[in-house]
Amino acid sequence: MIIQLEPTVSAAAKADILARIQELKYKVTEVNTQRASYLVAIGKADVDLRTIGQLPGILDIHRVSDEYKLVSRKWRVRPTVLDLGDGVRIGEGSLSIMAGPCSIESEAQMEKIMQHLVDNDVRIMRGGVFKPRSSPYSFRGLGMDGLKLFHQMARARGIKIITEVMQVSQVEEMHDYVDVFQVGARNTQNFNLLDALGGVDKPVLIKRGISGTLEELLSSAEYVFSGGNEKLILCERGIRTFETASRNTLDLNAVPILKEKTHLPVVVDPSHGIGIREYVATMALAGVMAGADGIVYEAHEKPEEAASDGAQTLNFQESARLIRNLRKVYALRQELE
Ligand code: PEP
Ligand code: MN
Repeated sequence: MIIQLEPTVSAAAKADILARIQELKYKVTEVNTQRASYLVAIGKADVDLRTIGQLPGILDIHRVSDEYKLVSRKWRVRPTVLDLGDGVRIGEGSLSIMAGPCSIESEAQMEKIMQHLVDNDVRIMRGGVFKPRSSPYSFRGLGMDGLKLFHQMARARGIKIITEVMQVSQVEEMHDYVDVFQVGARNTQNFNLLDALGGVDKPVLIKRGISGTLEELLSSAEYVFSGGNEKLILCERGIRTFETASRNTLDLNAVPILKEKTHLPVVVDPSHGIGIREYVATMALAGVMAGADGIVYEAHEKPEEAASDGAQTLNFQESARLIRNLRKVYALRQELE
């Protein structure tokens, strides 16, 4: 069960609530986020929620049987919308388009892509400066120097940044230079990293693990939420299956299922999802029709020269066409809803 406490709850009232829950032999975890205070209670006894719900100091009480609690839609019915500032929002009511190279490579490269985004009214740019690579000999990113330049150039153009954080020690040094932290597919269950991001007041996009279930993805989000940070986005980016015709298998089933299970925004990454440039736009549009709140994809002036993931990266012409079509398909979806 989840109990949301009144912001003004007195220490005595809280102690009373805790005593009542402990009488039931429930295990209680206190969660204080930047937004509110909750008690997450887990136990077996059959309780009439009204007996607890009427205690002073309780704003809201719900029974949530899922493994994950605070990210569940059984508790918070209304979808979460994240405000990145300057009119940029992620979640219900708009379609977020996030585009950019797999890796940040140079000032000239960023200049080109940012102009492309501005020309197409795209407000969020993706790009990694710390790159998880299967081989240690591949390009591993420009690191903090690259991020500082990325941030400076993006700010000057009114663009928000999403970039991957790979380890706990990077969270603090990156903090002032990012708008959204990305947790990569290889780190979805890095619980130390998730704990650290719980202490941050910036949104976190969590990618689905390479062979992760949706329940595992939701539980990873629960880590960050219960650590104090409610600003979360989930990302379907394809999973590893027996199929070898594509890099990964983009599981679009995940979109309606997640939208039903959680109040958090859900986005789709068709670039890593299929891994084949020619099909990225098709899968992006399918993701929108499946109900995604946003699409994050890779774009580069010259994909064939990209430092990483060129084979799944769109050039500017393909990207501009995709942006137009994403907006059309999103409008169609709204018409059908
Ligand atoms: C990326 O976004 O470039 C990336 C490495 O993604 P993933 O973690 O989904 O593989
Ligand atoms: Mn990539």
